Amino acid sequence: MRQRIIGLCAVLLMCCVSSFLKAETLPGLAVRIDVHHVTRDTWRVDYRFAEPVTAIKFDSVGELRQKAWKVVTPGMRMNFDSDHDIIDFDGKPFRSASIEIRTFDGLAPKSYAPFNRFSDGGTAFFLAFLQGEVYQGTRQLSMLADTRLHGLAQENVIAPPPNKRLAGGERGYAYFGPARAVRSGSTQFLIDPATPAWMRETFLDAGARLSAYYEKAYQRPLKDELLIMLSVSGSDASGLSMKGGAVMGQLSYRFDGKATLVDHPKYREAVAQLVGHELAHIWQMNIARGGMGEDDPWIHEGGAEAMSLDGVLQTGLWNEAAVAAYTKQKSAICDKLGNSVDSYDGIYACGLVRFNKLGVAIVPLWRTMMEVTENKGDVYSASLIDAIVLKLRSPPSAALPSAGAGQ
Ligand SMILES: [Zn+2]
Repeated sequence: MRQRIIGLCAVLLMCCVSSFLKAETLPGLAVRIDVHHVTRDTWRVDYRFAEPVTAIKFDSVGELRQKAWKVVTPGMRMNFDSDHDIIDFDGKPFRSASIEIRTFDGLAPKSYAPFNRFSDGGTAFFLAFLQGEVYQGTRQLSMLADTRLHGLAQENVIAPPPNKRLAGGERGYAYFGPARAVRSGSTQFLIDPATPAWMRETFLDAGARLSAYYEKAYQRPLKDELLIMLSVSGSDASGLSMKGGAVMGQLSYRFDGKATLVDHPKYREAVAQLVGHELAHIWQMNIARGGMGEDDPWIHEGGAEAMSLDGVLQTGLWNEAAVAAYTKQKSAICDKLGNSVDSYDGIYACGLVRFNKLGVAIVPLWRTMMEVTENKGDVYSASLIDAIVLKLRSPPSAALPSAGAGQ
């Protein structure tokens, strides 16, 4: 008999989104990155640059690189400052570098999990953490990566192919392990065999309903095939922790905690809304150009919150009372934060509040935002939203003289 846990613990929802659509202002340098799975928890990553470089600089990801990365090229070392991890060769130029990486279970706050473990022994590796910037003396360049994946003998390696719309060759998660993905239409699923029945059912049902709804509402079939991964970690922590991540062409979900075993309507609702939120990001990125900028995350996060609430309501996954309660709870959080979108919680809660206060329905608003960003190539911005809201609020006929004016 399954162990049931009495009482409902806090549901922690986290979402990350990588748009990779940032305006790349830096010139690029081609680099081949070979990722070898060496033993169950060991990886070797070899960089080979098209031209010599003097340093590789990464944005820090908590203690990931201090604890789990080891530079194995003789004479080369990694230094850490508060925001960056930097590899150099004592000032000398180099064309290649090799790193040994241990599977790391630590999680940096508000960031992608570097690794997601599956109960079948498989591991998903977040490849985007392999990319940074490189230097040639003081000259800074971005990496134009060609990443190749090499699994253990007999192991399946599952990852979406490089996306042509990502100029830097950025990649999301790659799974190494015994599983095979299961295709349904243009979506491939990789679902942990230990996923409890209630979660699998909710996840698949919500995914099918919400993607059909978004496609119709936003009038956009998906441009990319989608790979959806779901891992359930055997954490002993109480409660249910859910983490979702959206990268172009890929969604990843990770569920932790004892409460994953508990089939409770509130948990079903939370899973459905997380699916709605992550799929909303996929649609926000489902454009040929433009899209998410780096400056105002409240736009894509608050937008995904608002789109998901509309989605779960319109597809019957939530009722109006549930939507109202969620909205009220987020408004209270936003009030406490003084209506500011400058914190992690504010991006979500006050982002949602901002969209709710615009006085226009979320579907025509985001449908127009997607059209405009794609036509103009500009990123989603507050000024773009303001201009669209003005247009949507005044019906087209308002600009014309009325019929009663003697026309
Ligand atoms: Zn999000």
